[in-house]
Amino acid sequence: MRQLTFVRPMSVEWRESPDPVITGPLEAILRPLAVARCDLDAAIITGRAPAATPFGMGHECAGRVLAVGSDVRQFKPGDLVALPFEISCGTCTACQAGHSATCTGVGPGSMYGLGNIGGEGWGGAFAEAVKVPFADHMLVRIPPGVSPAQAACVGDNLADAWRAVGPPLREEPGGMVLVLGGAASSIGIWAAELAVRLGAGQVTYLDSDPERLALAEAAGAEPMQGPAPRRLGPYAITVDASGQPEGLAAAIRSTAANHSCTSVSVYWADPSIPFMYMYSRNVGLRTGRVDSREAMPTVLDLIAARVIDPLRIARLVDWESPGEWAASTSPKVVATREV
Ligand SMILES: [Zn+2]
Ligand SMILES: [Zn+2]
Repeated sequence: MRQLTFVRPMSVEWRESPDPVITGPLEAILRPLAVARCDLDAAIITGRAPAATPFGMGHECAGRVLAVGSDVRQFKPGDLVALPFEISCGTCTACQAGHSATCTGVGPGSMYGLGNIGGEGWGGAFAEAVKVPFADHMLVRIPPGVSPAQAACVGDNLADAWRAVGPPLREEPGGMVLVLGGAASSIGIWAAELAVRLGAGQVTYLDSDPERLALAEAAGAEPMQGPAPRRLGPYAITVDASGQPEGLAAAIRSTAANHSCTSVSVYWADPSIPFMYMYSRNVGLRTGRVDSREAMPTVLDLIAARVIDPLRIARLVDWESPGEWAASTSPKVVATREV
């Protein structure tokens, strides 16, 4: 089958790879119908992330079930489903507690479409077919009224945006929110948008990119242009999507006492953090990969209820134009094909 392969920075191409086949009773084979470009994909494509080449790309995906193993009970061929980017078993202690990102039933950090970063052998979702090892646990049915292109965004970045503001706003309804946008381009905009929709008192979105600022403003956030100042606020809820160590430090310093900053950015080199600020004000820092499988049903319900439409900020491209998917400067890009 064809699989979109990351060859080297700024270069992707279709390459042949073996067809995935069912080899165990809990597995399913999925035909991807929509693949969204993760903010991390954009960093990889432009050579900003350390990825050994070549490998099959794509890990934000929705599609149709093609085949299931003999013990799969919840799904059958033809079902429309969304796929989490992380591989998880559903039965280990971490999975049972909802922490699918740290599943111990598979190797640490197992993910689709990220080559050596995600453990070898899972393949990319931008392909004719993809294997799902624990189908009943991993797959999430797409609710009526939600398209595969919308659902493709849910398996990683939209879930990540939700975890940064949804649970904190549940703890503190009407709280003030600050989002530092940037490298995590779609996550930052969606975090601001979800904060507005979920009843934040005020949402400030700071970025230096005019397109992202306009998209956040259109969602109801207060735009603030420029590099991160030393501090703002304080805000009850702060989100670092900047991907810049200075942005992370500013987000932490802008966090109100006895609250926590959430960083959704990936830092390949350990950034320095304002530890004494945190210590003296009892400010915490949350980071890590989102427990995507746990968050997905909630996020799909938000789309079905029209609280958020992830395609508002997305550029749709044809499945047969993967070069556009890779090279677009839009904050979000989704490749789709017909059923
Ligand atoms: Zn991702
Ligand atoms: Zn597990």
